[in-house]
Amino acid sequence: MHAMLADAGFAFGFVLIMALAAVVAIVGVFGLVLRIMGAIFRGLFGHGCGPQSPPQMTAAPRGVIECPQPHCAHLNPPGARFCAQCGVPLKR
Ligand SMILES: [Zn+2]
Repeated sequence: MHAMLADAGFAFGFVLIMALAAVVAIVGVFGLVLRIMGAIFRGLFGHGCGPQSPPQMTAAPRGVIECPQPHCAHLNPPGARFCAQCGVPLKR
């Protein structure tokens, strides 16, 4: 009787430890898969928010003429004499 109880306790502890190990392993594998997926997606689309992301439209490209109208501010190609958006004359 005592031996059976001890066996049951041992088995219960063993199952508990195995379940804990399984959870740790699943969480670890899941985290690894997530990291790999993230790396794959960053490689596929290349639009990560890392420091290597190319600069967006924060600065006007060289040569373009920004429309003087504050409400327009359209970026016109180099050499344009009138704004393509609102038609005001552009000064160089
Ligand atoms: Zn304009």
